[in-house]
Amino acid sequence: MWWFVSPRIAFGEDALDYLEEVKARKAVIVTDQGIRKVGFVERITSYLEKNATEVETFEAVEPDPSKETVFKCVELLKRFEPELIIGLGGGSPIDVAKAAWLLYENPGLSLEEVTPFAEVTTGKKARLITIPTTSGGGAELSWAMVVTDKTEQRKLEPATRAVIADICILDPSLVSKMPPQLTADTGLDALANCIESYVCEWRNDFTDAFAIKAMSLIFEYLPKVYKNGDDVVARERMQNAAAMAGLAFGNSQVTIAHSMGHALGSIFHVSHGRSVEVVLPYVIQYTKTVAADRYAELAAAIGIKAKSSEEATDRLVVAVKELIKQLNEPLSIKEIGISEEDFEEKLGLLVERAELDTCTITSPRVPFEDEFRKLFLHAYEGRDVDF
Ligand SMILES: [Zn+2]
Repeated sequence: MWWFVSPRIAFGEDALDYLEEVKARKAVIVTDQGIRKVGFVERITSYLEKNATEVETFEAVEPDPSKETVFKCVELLKRFEPELIIGLGGGSPIDVAKAAWLLYENPGLSLEEVTPFAEVTTGKKARLITIPTTSGGGAELSWAMVVTDKTEQRKLEPATRAVIADICILDPSLVSKMPPQLTADTGLDALANCIESYVCEWRNDFTDAFAIKAMSLIFEYLPKVYKNGDDVVARERMQNAAAMAGLAFGNSQVTIAHSMGHALGSIFHVSHGRSVEVVLPYVIQYTKTVAADRYAELAAAIGIKAKSSEEATDRLVVAVKELIKQLNEPLSIKEIGISEEDFEEKLGLLVERAELDTCTITSPRVPFEDEFRKLFLHAYEGRDVDF
């Protein structure tokens, strides 16, 4: 048995107006300082106050949020007892909102115990609304969370369907001010999400449909929003694409571009989107031996015509690289600015972390240690994979 789960989604121009219908005595907005500065917190609050909702804000979420931050947020929830929690921002505030909601609803639960098989529930005390301000990772729709355990220097990835939001609001006005680099970083994460979802071992008919549509939207609209952030139509379509890619991988999985990206991101402090994007072309080349037919379907979705699946996959790699180049993002780990000495010193750790990552087992081709090492080295140099 398998499930396809999704929040109810309000999308398009003025989607935020949905908040006028929300009735709650008390609400907590979980966000970060940057979102506060651009005035989004006030915008959300003014909607809620129209219905006399009392609002508290938790805005202490940092990038790569820690367990301690989640605990602090839970303390506020316990003290204030809201009926509504709103995760507002990029992936970090939304993940904190999800994790804090789960712990608020299940006293005594630890994040280490949270797996897709754990019997936990939400909704007895509060509802969750997610409102993303980036178009990329799909945290607003997914049941995964990333929380850092600072003492053990590792990332926890608790996942449970219980943290699927009740409502997700995709309002293009909230993503229209993203600077070009953030647009590119997050947009390429969405691309990796849809490509990897489509080839991973847990793919299914439902996620395939979302991935294929997201693929064509991303190739059409990501270059447009990068060049002109004020293109509202392109912003809206890209926001939809990122959400669809989120639903695709959230209901299947991703593969080793994410395993390698997670390792790279945590060791060298590279943003999630960039650390995944930079290895993606090499991962497609490596998995081509077993997934060319799947890649050919993704290639067809962006108008690539070829005589064989192998040729279509090669052209797909070229198209992905061209898109990355157009967005002025790095095509090799070296280009990120990581020195050869630093890279070599950490190579063993990178390989170890990638091997242990939960995204590795769902790859259509699973690398052994020496192949992971070779993959990292090829991605460092930007060399085509031929093994
Ligand atoms: Zn991702």
